[in-house]
Amino acid sequence: MNNLKKLSLGAISAIPLLSVAQTGERPNVIFIFTDDHATNAISTYNKTLVKTPNMDRLASEGMVMDNCFAVNSISTPSRACILTGKHSHKNGVTVFNEFDGSQQTFPKLLQKAGYSTAMIGKWHLTSDPTGFDYWNIFPGQGQYNSPILYTKDGGVRYKNGYATNVVADLTIDYIKSLPKDKPFFVMSQHKAPHRPFQPRPDLQEKYKGRTFPLPETFWDEYEDWELSVKGNKMSIAEYFTNSDLKITPPPGLPADSLAKWLATAPMELMVDGKKLTGRELVQYKYNRYMQDYLACVEAVDEAIGKVLDYLDQSGLAKNTIVIYSSDQGFFLGEHGFFDKRYMYEESIRMPFIIRWPGVIKAGTRCDKIVTNVDFAETFLDIAHVDIPSDMQGRSFVPLLRGEKVKDWPKSFYYRYYHDPNEHGTPAHYGVRTEDYKLIYYWRLNYWELFDLRKDKIEMVNVYNDKKYAKVRRDMTEELYRIKKEKDDNDELADAPLKSGIVPREKYASPRIIQRNDL
Ligand code: CA
Repeated sequence: MNNLKKLSLGAISAIPLLSVAQTGERPNVIFIFTDDHATNAISTYNKTLVKTPNMDRLASEGMVMDNCFAVNSISTPSRACILTGKHSHKNGVTVFNEFDGSQQTFPKLLQKAGYSTAMIGKWHLTSDPTGFDYWNIFPGQGQYNSPILYTKDGGVRYKNGYATNVVADLTIDYIKSLPKDKPFFVMSQHKAPHRPFQPRPDLQEKYKGRTFPLPETFWDEYEDWELSVKGNKMSIAEYFTNSDLKITPPPGLPADSLAKWLATAPMELMVDGKKLTGRELVQYKYNRYMQDYLACVEAVDEAIGKVLDYLDQSGLAKNTIVIYSSDQGFFLGEHGFFDKRYMYEESIRMPFIIRWPGVIKAGTRCDKIVTNVDFAETFLDIAHVDIPSDMQGRSFVPLLRGEKVKDWPKSFYYRYYHDPNEHGTPAHYGVRTEDYKLIYYWRLNYWELFDLRKDKIEMVNVYNDKKYAKVRRDMTEELYRIKKEKDDNDELADAPLKSGIVPREKYASPRIIQRNDL
């Protein structure tokens, strides 16, 4: 597709000597991105858990995508899908393996087309970023308090800094440093609210003791799930540990015993002089989880507010697109779980909120299915850069413009590979349409089919229900059609798991910068 065709001929002939940035034809983009932020923890999507006024502001001035999904619901693969516009089996990042930075990515194409490009914060792809004028990233997962970030020139420790604040400030500092005659694309990527859900102390205090409504599937006993959740290690009841609960360890434990203690999930607990066991204890764990997770979310919301304020003050707001998204969803107690990975709704659903002044009608929502494989194409389209034919998604700029797109895809292909893994999630692939979801656990030879019209919370597997025989046939056909369309020949299905680890010398002996966030 040649996107230059989309520029009006009038615009081109009237101002041929001005750069595209000066004509306002190519907007700046700030892509604010977090790790593991469930849509249910954003008041734009769900008002029952937390208030996120700055995300809501973005939504009220822009568009909310209500059906945005990750095609492989885990951090590193999702990031690789976004950079390449390709599924995991094409970009090579099926699990936590190292990203091959020599391949085509949208930042490289934007850079070539004259954009200033930057990557700030959580990268999580092991290899050094490519395609960026500037990058400044956490090693691996990074840490919340006094984080280290490193550039090609070495590391800096932000002593008494809080990661979310630091990323927001670095983002603004970078934008301030830019030349005015080029558009920019800045990826501002937070660690939060990823495990260990470590809030800033003032917010930890604010959320202390709060209780939260339980999701309706919280006490799911997995009667209908059989093999898919057998051996699973993501239930709050059994796997939310002393470390997750931030309980102070008993004094004097030797290192190996301490590690074991931290990784233990207590089955009884003294809280305010009362011994909690059974369901009371599970509910206590859930509330502790929500307190810390949502406090981390609130810091992200503040960080977004800070960036929006800067754009207003600097006059950049009118020609700068602001996007908020996260690498996948997260279970917040649904089915009793924390974590992600599964092809179930809470795990695969990504937030996507976008403000584009003058193009997107304020306060609109879109229910079409889009995925993280569509992001690269969309970003290139926004920048009027040709979309390479080997990218596997599709630009959703027409949807953002509010156009009716008759042939918009009504399904998407999902594949999760990381098996075995610390949460015991079996590998699977599947297809989700607007009404149904079919999942195949290929190592278990086990199928699930959900009727999303009647069962949005996915409690009833109808795969063996005779009433669904036709749906099952149609969905199976659709699964193999889309698997073929995406050219997945199972080549990487059982590729050996190789974790990528950032060599320590890249950020050893960091320079110290003092902050006072903590
Ligand atoms: Ca993640």
